[in-house]
Amino acid sequence: MEFSQFRVQAVMEITQRPELVFVRGEGSWLEDHAGKRYLDFVQGWAVNALGHNPEPIRAALHQQVDRLINPSPAFYNEPSIALADRLTDASCFDKVFFANSGAEANEGAIKLARRYGQIHRNGAYKIITFTNAFHGRTLATMSASGKPGWDTLFAPQVDGFPKATYNDIASVEALIDDQTIAVMLEPVQGEAGVVPATDEFLQQLRELTRKHGLLLIVDEVQTGMGRTGKMFAYQHAGIEPDIMTLGKGIGGGVPLSALLAREEVSCFRPGDQGGTYNGNPLMTAVGVAVFDTLAAPGFLENVVKLGELLAQRSLAFSAKWGMQGERGRGLLRALVLDREDGGQIVEAARDLAPVGLLVNSPRPNLLRFMPALNVTPEEIDIQFELLDQAFRQVRGA
Ligand SMILES: *Cc1c(COP(=O)(O)O)cnc(C)c1O
Repeated sequence: MEFSQFRVQAVMEITQRPELVFVRGEGSWLEDHAGKRYLDFVQGWAVNALGHNPEPIRAALHQQVDRLINPSPAFYNEPSIALADRLTDASCFDKVFFANSGAEANEGAIKLARRYGQIHRNGAYKIITFTNAFHGRTLATMSASGKPGWDTLFAPQVDGFPKATYNDIASVEALIDDQTIAVMLEPVQGEAGVVPATDEFLQQLRELTRKHGLLLIVDEVQTGMGRTGKMFAYQHAGIEPDIMTLGKGIGGGVPLSALLAREEVSCFRPGDQGGTYNGNPLMTAVGVAVFDTLAAPGFLENVVKLGELLAQRSLAFSAKWGMQGERGRGLLRALVLDREDGGQIVEAARDLAPVGLLVNSPRPNLLRFMPALNVTPEEIDIQFELLDQAFRQVRGA
């Protein structure tokens, strides 16, 4: 089928899409309407933790769809109980609320912190967040985000999100007042260009928030579920936050997210929080299948090894092209370019023939790699061969 035969005019233009319609996926590979194959190192923005259409997800969906799709969030269902148990056993948290997107989970975290402030801290409501942070696209989570330009985009913003500087503890302390209830951050700032918080900064934040009676919220929508080589990225720093949000990888490609909190912080009263699809068995059954795959012996150790391999190959590639190295954690990594041609490289890589490559450029001088967590070493090598072709096209030999 030709692209011109698709009536794409009816699809709202929220971004400039290339003239491609994807029809099939398997593992690290996607296929478009014309039958061309692409190696996918974006994976729906770190969503498809197990790659495209993996067997555990297909099996879980088939089984659950024959049993029960949605009894209503006002009743218990088996898969959501099973997934909540697994997540609390694997973390420092005691309670889980399921939602459908990262932004919705973060909205829940913001509401929970404000509720906690009403009950315990005289109505304190401010949540300190960070410059360049990304927490989602609802009004409150856009206000919590520190993306340049977002403060005026849909003004007025939701009040109460003063911005500190990432990895700078003094800048956080300077913002604390008697209206402050929490500090919220990504353990690795993803959209900002894969900028990890140092373990020391996370430890300092834990100490500072304890000292002032504030909640520490980690947004692990991108970093959670094995992406950085541990089940949750906060575990690298040996700290215990009060609230965590998960999204993206938790559903391995289906809409599922979660808000987790420690017992003392779980202060929603009946009616405070909810949603039509929250914790529905179809999605949480997938969550169980994804979790069990990640938690199987050796899986996360392999993510660490693959992350090291990706880092090594990135460094070698960087040296070959005289660039600025790489950074990241586990399988969330970025190659730092020596010029601002990330966008052109992304397009050239995609348009390579006969096989294309999908990578992402969150900043003009960066390429971000977020392959499936079960990507193979061979696929990592193919990625750099394809990238080399794209570089030669854009920059010349
Ligand atoms: C992607 C992302 C979100 C938003 O998730 P959606 O599912 O797109 O709403 C929030 N926080 C972080 C850190 C993210 O990477």
